Amino acid sequence: MKNQNLVCSIGVLFVFFLGLAEICAAQKLAITFDDLPLNGLLPPGVTRAETTKHVLEILKKRHVPPVYGFINAKKLEANADGAEALKLWAAAEPVGNHTYSHMDLEQNTAEAFEREIEENEPVLELLKEEANDWHWFRYPYLHEGDTVEKRRAVRAFLKAHGYRIAQVTLDWEDYLWNTAYARCVAKNDAKSMEWLRSSYLSTASEFLDLGREQAKLVYGREISYVLLMHLGAYSSTILPDALELLKKKGFKLVTLEEAQSDAAYESDPDVGLHDAGTLLDQMMQVKGIKDPEHAEKPYKEIESVCQ
Ligand SMILES: [Zn+2]
Repeated sequence: MKNQNLVCSIGVLFVFFLGLAEICAAQKLAITFDDLPLNGLLPPGVTRAETTKHVLEILKKRHVPPVYGFINAKKLEANADGAEALKLWAAAEPVGNHTYSHMDLEQNTAEAFEREIEENEPVLELLKEEANDWHWFRYPYLHEGDTVEKRRAVRAFLKAHGYRIAQVTLDWEDYLWNTAYARCVAKNDAKSMEWLRSSYLSTASEFLDLGREQAKLVYGREISYVLLMHLGAYSSTILPDALELLKKKGFKLVTLEEAQSDAAYESDPDVGLHDAGTLLDQMMQVKGIKDPEHAEKPYKEIESVCQ
């Protein structure tokens, strides 16, 4: 009897360590959604509230840790559906600031941009739940400033107002598929929808791998990642497949706070950059490192599908 207990204990320990080894090996990743309440167009008859509800259901069912949704409050003007969608999101997941009207810092002054950050705040304050710190900022288009003066001015403003920058280190430009999907649904084009799915997943896979290679080139190691997604027409349809892909690639989902506790997020390229992309893209550029070989995104095909 005693021996049996011992065998069992060793067995339990073995299984425990196997599990532990798997968790330790997993790469941490935080999912974030931009452009709430909606990115792109919807198919006829579909509402923003429905779209949001379906995404929230998937996140809950899959036990995804809190997911920041970055909002543009201008989209709520005279739009009850958008307001309802945001209420649903904020009741379930945290919200953060993405400027009032999705302003492009490259096309505007630092002062105008800062006003837009402030203009977005009343809605964030109204929406937030108890545990939600909305002082996280995501730059629209990931444009952090085309001159170093602008870049430093906005960074100083954010710091003075208690914001942390929600960086992005993985991105496959998922938004490209949102409006294309809305068009294909309207046309009931099943064959094109299948192409959307396969092209989405192969692009996601390619750019997840690319981001990890970039991290190794820049930091000499893998980092904890922050993934950029956009809430739109295709989100609830493709999200289960996207989550499955992340799992298959060995990612462990964590909160934005946990991902950005990685020291890699302390780095600041501190130069003016034009349309430079993710933090990893920016670091590659300032360090003069070339991207490894990778397939490009099917921009043209997405634009023309179901037209
Ligand atoms: Zn955006």
